[in-house]
Amino acid sequence: MRHPRSIKIIGGGLAGTEAAWQAASQGVPVTLYEMRPVRQTAVHKTDRLAELVCSNSFRGDKLDNAVGLLKEEMRRLGSLVMRAAEASRVPAGAALAVDRERFAEAITTALTTHPLVTIVRDEVTAIPESTTLEPVIVATGPLTSDALSSDIAQLVGSQHLYFYDAISPIVLAETIDRSKVFRASRWNRSIRSQPTSQGFSPACGVDDGEGDYLNCPLTRDEYDRFYDALIGAESATVHDFDKERFFEGCLPIEVMAHRGRDTLRFGPMKPVGLIDPGTGREPYAAVQLRQDNLAGEHFSLVGFQTQIKWGDQARVLRLIPGLEQAEFVRFGMVHRNTYVNAPTVLTETWQVRMRPTLLFAGQMSGVEGYVESAASGLIAGLNAAALASGEAPSTPPRTTAIGALAYYVSHADPAHYEPSNITFGIMEPLPNVQGAPRGKMARKIALSDRALADLQTWLHARTSQRVPEVSRA
Ligand SMILES: Cc1cc2nc3c(=O)[nH]c(=O)nc-3n(C[C@H](O)[C@H](O)[C@H](O)COP(=O)(O)OP(=O)(O)OC[C@H]3O[C@@H](n4cnc5c(N)ncnc54)[C@H](O)[C@@H]3O)c2cc1C
Repeated sequence: MRHPRSIKIIGGGLAGTEAAWQAASQGVPVTLYEMRPVRQTAVHKTDRLAELVCSNSFRGDKLDNAVGLLKEEMRRLGSLVMRAAEASRVPAGAALAVDRERFAEAITTALTTHPLVTIVRDEVTAIPESTTLEPVIVATGPLTSDALSSDIAQLVGSQHLYFYDAISPIVLAETIDRSKVFRASRWNRSIRSQPTSQGFSPACGVDDGEGDYLNCPLTRDEYDRFYDALIGAESATVHDFDKERFFEGCLPIEVMAHRGRDTLRFGPMKPVGLIDPGTGREPYAAVQLRQDNLAGEHFSLVGFQTQIKWGDQARVLRLIPGLEQAEFVRFGMVHRNTYVNAPTVLTETWQVRMRPTLLFAGQMSGVEGYVESAASGLIAGLNAAALASGEAPSTPPRTTAIGALAYYVSHADPAHYEPSNITFGIMEPLPNVQGAPRGKMARKIALSDRALADLQTWLHARTSQRVPEVSRA
């Protein structure tokens, strides 16, 4: 007789629906819990599964772009989200954008009509029991309900669960003008960030002295010019859920600037302990850039979380010496976001380290974006199905986009953890051998070619290792 096996998935968003589809496609029954419409979030408007809460874009769709590669990998893994996106595609140049209603409808129909999927419309207030035969996936997203958030905080430790994203802008290393910046740590010593009642604030910490910082020095004139531009910049629309008080340690730079002309010089732009080798003195003010990804191609502006509109952000930040030509990989943001400190809590297979029959996926697991959330749900769904079937969970290698994302969440520095979009910078670099592609575009294409070949190898190995149905009986 076959052992009864099933999977509970909490949250019918991008991650939860993809996970449900993948697990059911492996022949494992799934119960998917979605609290809407019984209980709404501050931003969802409908009762459909996989509702897109904001933009209707899944971003770039070409292989010279990391999110384009991630999407192609998902297609090759039989993604429901990708299938629904293709079916509801609207013209958007090189990007994949969708008709949001048709998209959510396609997902809702595919799951409600799937014979192995049961959908329960109710709020889950505590993490259900999980066992090897009945694993649980939590995919309740950035707006996880309060009761469940408290239970998750109890499980992972409240210092490892965050409720806000205070994201600093990130620039591409090769676009920083090195002739204007200098390398140094403040006082050349380590000042560890202190835990607070809300836990660490990884996105907001000012120089902890540990890393190797690039410092952009500002003269008084440069600071005044920057300050005036910042004060005059336009802030992004504040959503209702953003109106809550900011943590004092995570204030957006424009909020600090409005408190007084010198506030930033005593906060994220403080120059003390930084000697500019060009002048032999402390500058009037300084902006610190910290290496942000494993490959060292990205640097974030430390303590520069901001809500300034993206166009204005680029204009104002390019007034900082060294960043005049900076290319922004990501702009700063401050918004409500519930997520765990993934490197502390999760393994590469999206399992909870201390409870491997429980998996986290989506924004809650510390990734950023629709596509990344669905991608994590895809692997979590496959792995929950593997567990329930007596097989070993696995993840594609770090040379693939989907594997790189898994590697990032489980291996990034926990002291400075921030949810990440997929970028080529978090993928394993190409070997630096003779004949390796030199140009930027050629390198990206080579990374994509390698990723798709390695994904195929992983898929083949995974399929051939599967326990035949008959031996599981
Ligand atoms: C305001 C806002 C705007 C955003 N804009 C973008 C954007 O433009 N582009 C982009 O790529 N990303 C955007 N994001 C990030 C986006 O939320 C994620 O990319 C994506 O939706 C995350 O997928 P998910 O499955 O993790 O969460 P969701 O898609 O939010 O799904 C989680 C689901 O869980 C349900 N749920 C919550 N708690 C419970 C519970 N206790 N019991 C049962 N069900 C529950 C929710 O109702 C929801 O349906 C935005 C986020 C926010 C908050």
